Amino acid sequence: MEESYVDLHTHTTCSDGLARPEQMPDLAKKAGLKAVAVTDHDTTRAIDRALQAGSLLNIEVIPGVELSTMLDDNEIHILGYFIDWQNRNFGEKIRRLREGRLFRAEKILARLKRLGINLHIDQVLEIAGEGVVGRPHIADALVREGVVCSYDEAFDRYIGQHGPAYVPKRLLSPAEAIGLIATAGGVPVLAHPGTVHRDELIPLLVKWGLKGIEIIHPMHTPQLTQHYQEISRRYGLVCTGGSDYHGKGRLLNEIGKYKVPYQMVETLRRLSSW
Ligand code: AMP
Ligand code: ZN
Ligand code: FE
Ligand code: FE
Repeated sequence: MEESYVDLHTHTTCSDGLARPEQMPDLAKKAGLKAVAVTDHDTTRAIDRALQAGSLLNIEVIPGVELSTMLDDNEIHILGYFIDWQNRNFGEKIRRLREGRLFRAEKILARLKRLGINLHIDQVLEIAGEGVVGRPHIADALVREGVVCSYDEAFDRYIGQHGPAYVPKRLLSPAEAIGLIATAGGVPVLAHPGTVHRDELIPLLVKWGLKGIEIIHPMHTPQLTQHYQEISRRYGLVCTGGSDYHGKGRLLNEIGKYKVPYQMVETLRRLSSW
């Protein structure tokens, strides 16, 4: 039987991606995939639209989310798969995270102002459009205003984690995010652990209910993928993978670039309440 593939990590215009939710199944189909998970930051707004487009193209859309959390000084991202995106409690909690992001964007602009750069929040919100506001939109605004020449330069000089205008988000703890995903019937998975370098935290996350690790990611070398595959095996966790697609020209990679076996979807489905 021919192997089929999935991309389990993508962002749309509902957070900081450049492709609309309606386009995701088409992009997935063109990349030769059988399924695609939509995993926007702190929102599930894209899911209904992506599902509808997927049903027309016979591409399976997996409802997902990516929640940012903080543990000590480490930003840890938790992916959730097969969540009930209509769950009221879940919706209310992530709505608060979005409010925090707006407040934080304003703080970043205040810092930029102190550096002599005047950007108005409306300029950023115009770029964000329907999306949950994030640093990529601020980066685009800085490019548009001619403050920097490129998206990457905006991060390198100003808003990257070590930049002078960086402000962290108000974040959940990993335990809260894992619990929130679980109560919405979903499967919590640690995103791109190779970007965090804190493997000793994994047993703690497992104790809190983590069910999987994203082993395939553009920031992971083949060695790191293998390393996290071994860790997953040790703790009996499911392995996942994806491109962390944000759209053309916006960091990272093309949808479906990695050969992520569709089998992972079946495993996630079994672990969920679906
Ligand atoms: P936020 O959630 O607002 O903190 O923004 C995080 C997003 O910004 C990530 O998902 C990436 O798309 C992007 N990002 C973070 N760091 C960088 C960087 N150094 N260069 C380019 N993009 C970045
Ligand atoms: Zn993003
Ligand atoms: Fe992430
Ligand atoms: Fe992501």
